[in-house]
Amino acid sequence: MSEEKSSELHKFYAKNLEERLSILKEFSGLSEEELNELRNYGSLDFEKANRMIGNVIGSIQFPLGIATNFMINGKDYLIPMAIEEPSVIAAASKAAGIARKAGGFKAESKESIMIGQIQLKGIKDFSKAKKEILKKKKELLEKVNSIDKVLIEAGGGAREIEVREIGKGKKKFLVIHLLVDVRDAMGANTINSMCEKIAPEIEEISNGKAGLRILSNLAVHRTVKARAVFTKKALEESFKGQGKGGEIIKGIIDAAEFAEADAFRACTHNKGIMNGVDAVAVATGNDFRAIEAAVHAFSCWKNKGYKPLSKYYKDKKEDLVGEIELPLALGIVGGATKTNPVAGISLKILGVKSARELAEVIACVGLANNFAALRALATEGIQKGHMKLHAKNIAIMAGANGKEVERVAEKMVKEKDVSVGKAKEIMNESG
Ligand code: NAD
Repeated sequence: MSEEKSSELHKFYAKNLEERLSILKEFSGLSEEELNELRNYGSLDFEKANRMIGNVIGSIQFPLGIATNFMINGKDYLIPMAIEEPSVIAAASKAAGIARKAGGFKAESKESIMIGQIQLKGIKDFSKAKKEILKKKKELLEKVNSIDKVLIEAGGGAREIEVREIGKGKKKFLVIHLLVDVRDAMGANTINSMCEKIAPEIEEISNGKAGLRILSNLAVHRTVKARAVFTKKALEESFKGQGKGGEIIKGIIDAAEFAEADAFRACTHNKGIMNGVDAVAVATGNDFRAIEAAVHAFSCWKNKGYKPLSKYYKDKKEDLVGEIELPLALGIVGGATKTNPVAGISLKILGVKSARELAEVIACVGLANNFAALRALATEGIQKGHMKLHAKNIAIMAGANGKEVERVAEKMVKEKDVSVGKAKEIMNESG
């Protein structure tokens, strides 16, 4: 009987890289070649990675590409995107090229206001507690604003306190919302520290007991709107042989209406938006889980149900207008934006001066990817462009190596069958 291996590793975090790798070699039977892949860190070396997270054994890399053609609020951007999905950057660039013909994207963002929540339990008199807290609002805000001098110097700080009653009967409790302008930071640590610091004072004022004290990722005050026009003429020129511009526009509007009417479709519609949003968030070292949580919750919160995050309609000239609204909590300081060297370089390539500018750029990329997906769906179908780029992955999956990858991929595309079975057939044919 083979000996069971245990995942209970004593002080794994305290071991050096080679010790960690030798444990993995033992546990998972990794070869020397595979261990060397893990030793190959790229720009995020062991020291840097080990400072960012615990139990590091390597770093997994994504291709980093540049989306071209973007003009946003009259300014040109080259946009770094880190993503493993083959067609996303090409699609964003193509959409941006079409939008550019009608002046590019227009975007506007609200202030970087995030919400911190302090739960208060054991309240006897809810209206009295509420009144007392709001009476002390000024002092409470002053106290919160004494915590982070750097944030205050950057023009940020706590702005408002709101009190909400949640639940019913014995399960009822109070929640304090602390509204903070976090400026150029994503803001989670800033907000969490503020909530913890101010909670004892709020307990005292309200005669309640503080429960959870943490940021809400539902950043309803930190939203960005973006818009672009895709003209009939530009569509017709860009997608020759796929019908008149007006027909393409009708197809896109129909596709958007499908998403409006059906959550199953809305989910995939929004996934297309997040292809662009997440790729730039990852490239710039931002917390994409926070963004994902926020946008989907925002859709439900705003629409009382899950809906698409973008909409499409025709303007007076019968050209297509695309609009998007997203809550985007992004930073150009803090988090991993400086600790990961490539994130810093991505921010430099973008040349954004504030978190709000970054959010405006990202909303436009989301709209571009969404438009590109709807256009493909409404005309040739999504697989044509996608599979052309994905063919190399399929060839590798089938076991192709080196120059064979290119050859097998090309033949699959030519013969209009991009599948592992076909790739194997081509490889067998050539012996
Ligand atoms: P942070 O704590 O790393 O840095 C923020 C600090 O930067 C502020 O305290 C401020 O003093 C300073 N700063 C300097 N210049 C500034 C400027 N112009 N504007 C604003 N601040 C400036 O980062 P953070 O943004 O508070 O937290 C983000 C991190 O928290 C991310 O790594 C995220 O993954 C993580 N996190 C997220 C959650 C969540 O989403 N629920 C929870 C906990 C932690």
